[in-house]
Amino acid sequence: MSFWYMVCPKCYGQGRLVLTVDETKNIPFLNCDECEASWYSVLSIQSEPPFLGYKIKNHIASLSEIEKFGWHKLALHEYKK
Ligand SMILES: [Zn+2]
Repeated sequence: MSFWYMVCPKCYGQGRLVLTVDETKNIPFLNCDECEASWYSVLSIQSEPPFLGYKIKNHIASLSEIEKFGWHKLALHEYKK
């Protein structure tokens, strides 16, 4: 089970921004499950170009990780694959 924040603005709603963990930096980021566009914060979605999530070692954030990172308010939607 994973959680996503919003539809991806980069691929115009084809994908969703899934709460993901950067395993190298040990910080969370938002990763599009369709086009891989990624951002480290909600603010940067509007102000910065995305990076490609597949280029960094990552895994989908668990609920406990989301709580640990204080990203609970970003876990707006539950995603069952
Ligand atoms: Zn996308």
